[in-house]
Amino acid sequence: MKAHIVGGGFGGLAAAAYLIRNADVPGRDITLYEADDCWGGGFFLSGGPERGYSLPGSVFDSHFRCTFDLLQAIPSTSDPAVSVKDEFFAFNASHPFNDRAHIIDRDGRIVHGPHFGLSLCDGFRLARLVLTPEAMLDGRRIEEFFPARFFSTEFWLLWSTIMGSLPQHSATEFRRYINRGLALFPSLSDMARFMRTPRNQHQAFIGPLVAWLRPRGVNLLTGVFVRDIGLASSPGRITVNRIDYERDSTATTIAVGPEDLVLVTLGSQIADMSMGSMTEAPRPRGGGQSWALWTRLAQGHTAFGNPGLYFGNPQVPSSRWVSFTVTTTGTEFLDQLSALTGSEPGTGGLVTLKDSGWLLSLTIFHQPEIIGQPPGTNVWWGYGLYPERNGDFVPKPMKACTGAEILEEVLRQLRFDRQLATIMASSICIPCDMPYVNNIWLPRGRSDRPHVIPEGATNLGLIGQYAEVPRDIAFTIEYSARTAWEAIHRLLGRGPAPPPVYQGQYDPKALLGALKVFLRR
Ligand SMILES: Cc1cc2nc3c(=O)[nH]c(=O)nc-3n(C[C@H](O)[C@H](O)[C@H](O)COP(=O)(O)OP(=O)(O)OC[C@H]3O[C@@H](n4cnc5c(N)ncnc54)[C@H](O)[C@@H]3O)c2cc1C
Repeated sequence: MKAHIVGGGFGGLAAAAYLIRNADVPGRDITLYEADDCWGGGFFLSGGPERGYSLPGSVFDSHFRCTFDLLQAIPSTSDPAVSVKDEFFAFNASHPFNDRAHIIDRDGRIVHGPHFGLSLCDGFRLARLVLTPEAMLDGRRIEEFFPARFFSTEFWLLWSTIMGSLPQHSATEFRRYINRGLALFPSLSDMARFMRTPRNQHQAFIGPLVAWLRPRGVNLLTGVFVRDIGLASSPGRITVNRIDYERDSTATTIAVGPEDLVLVTLGSQIADMSMGSMTEAPRPRGGGQSWALWTRLAQGHTAFGNPGLYFGNPQVPSSRWVSFTVTTTGTEFLDQLSALTGSEPGTGGLVTLKDSGWLLSLTIFHQPEIIGQPPGTNVWWGYGLYPERNGDFVPKPMKACTGAEILEEVLRQLRFDRQLATIMASSICIPCDMPYVNNIWLPRGRSDRPHVIPEGATNLGLIGQYAEVPRDIAFTIEYSARTAWEAIHRLLGRGPAPPPVYQGQYDPKALLGALKVFLRR
């Protein structure tokens, strides 16, 4: 039996590791095909101290059950005697978030109330949505369940800037997030229950996974785009019999037997991502390579869902983020932000500038964020949830701005005008346009996401953010890991089933904690 995995993001790499660990498939019988030149997909790391780094900012919680189960078996880069999981938990125990100024208004005042601005009525509305079965939420939007006032509460700002939801987004997804994230409710402002990697996610998670797979003989192919997979036609059954891929403009076809296994990552949140520089805005990048295979599959079969819902132009204003990574050799920005927020650099979580047109959120990483980051260099990150709107000081949409323009807007929003020239001179801001990153939130119906094992499939599993896993929440590596584990378990019938998705609504401690938010003074 040979296993073929399309996509080398966290999901594809996790799939290879589960095959070895859970299903006893020898590494030499597994091949991973990644179109990019490097591994990691959404957990990318690019640039350097001279040109400026670029990376995503991410948070996690302790209920990433599939992820941590796997990372328990993977040695960390810094100390191979310690697993990635143990390193992660030890780091979070010694460096918990203590966000003292999560939301700041245009006058530099910290916005914080005991109930996050929620009324008891809001509590009932949240409960009503949670109690509505998913089957009744097809295509419905969050804004259908709440009055306009709800979307200006501190709660909504905290929730949407951490989780990515907008009022026009999916009520189904919001319901799942509330259930899955109920235990985080009391700490939405200080972020004490949120967790982070000890360094950037590429070096903390992706590097160790690749380092574990390589000596086990897994065929790790980068720069390989899988153009098509052939499906043998027999009524009611879907069996892959062929993989067509391209490498360096050379097309290759390999035969797949009915006993083989093919796992395909559908789409990518970083599809068509592009980066700019201090002097150039990111150039829109078409191509759609990341969802091309999904589109081909869906053209021939209804069991493959609806890629057009997630990828394609009309949806972009509801799915785009522009993020930016700032590499600085000065300390002025860190000093000023610490003075404003009362948080030591690296201890606060997000700082959201609530009155900024782009709805900017920033975070200073625990330093060094990158292995090899030169001493005296600091890295911080931010993003705009509304990058299609004009800035307040730079009258342009964020997506059309250079790194210098984004940095200027941030500094002026923060009223750091006196330090502006010094900070600009010692900083490199790399903007990053991600037109599809937030598309997992688009309102959807139940058939838009295909099942992990499409109906009738005998040797094909679908993994990643766009395959359906009941109850779990996308925009997480946990979701991709779960799809991989589930697909392998069901297709091969080997190893344990994935652990159940954590559901806060059945956890008395989480329920009590959430209730206390409404009762505290
Ligand atoms: C800015 C940002 C913030 C994030 N924050 C968080 C967070 O806070 N918490 C969290 O858990 N997660 C977070 N994520 C999400 C996380 O990155 C994704 O959940 C995860 O990377 C998904 O992994 P994946 O393997 O399913 O897909 P991806 O990482 O998107 O990888 C898919 C890969 O498949 C490749 N591919 C696609 N089609 C083909 C083909 N036909 N042939 C060959 N290769 C192909 C692509 O090139 C890509 O590398 C964040 C992501 C971003 C970008």
